[in-house]
Amino acid sequence: MSTTWTAANNVALLNVDPQDTFCPNGALAVTDGDQIIPALNSLREHFNKVYWSQDFHPDNHISFASTHGAEPFSLKKVSYGDQVMWPEHAKQSASDGTGAQFHKDLVFKASDKIIQKGTNKDIDSYSAFLENDKKTPPRFDNGNSLADELRADGVDTLVITGLALDYCAGDTALDALSEKFNVIVVEDATRSITPEGRLAKIAQIVDAGGIVLTSAALQKNPQLICA
Ligand SMILES: [Zn+2]
Repeated sequence: MSTTWTAANNVALLNVDPQDTFCPNGALAVTDGDQIIPALNSLREHFNKVYWSQDFHPDNHISFASTHGAEPFSLKKVSYGDQVMWPEHAKQSASDGTGAQFHKDLVFKASDKIIQKGTNKDIDSYSAFLENDKKTPPRFDNGNSLADELRADGVDTLVITGLALDYCAGDTALDALSEKFNVIVVEDATRSITPEGRLAKIAQIVDAGGIVLTSAALQKNPQLICA
């Protein structure tokens, strides 16, 4: 992408969980997850406001199969509904493929803001807006939820990328729409755990009023997000 346009100040880029743990060789690898990294770095050149979510679990998190002696990828009933039993991933205490670190090739700036989620041992959080109980928002250190912080920053429109579209990136997009943000998902800047999950989530996002397009289409139509 060239840097011939800059998104308006009410528009932010939100990169969901582009972490090693979701890339090839990570503990919860999403096929070709690392291939979105160049697209994220190109996209950010067009934005003054960039937000990130980071899956950030304590040890023995409720979403880990190992916590329950369960089979990975099975379902377990917990207080807020069915919880997928994931391999240990995005751990605060690790720095290998089970750790929570972002992919090393990503470009960050001092003005970027990072919301950490899944920090509550007893509730998983796919969305960066609400944990899986659909009541508790992840919060910044200042106490703001992501929605609070975006509104305080004058943002009403989000361009969303990340991993995985059928879980965290997609649920973040749906909750953003519920919170009355305008949402554009950049499809080629996402990857998914399953193709059928991807299609189902795209249908839900479009149904809820979101736009799903490619970065090439966004590049050709910057008026969608420029003043
Ligand atoms: Zn997680």
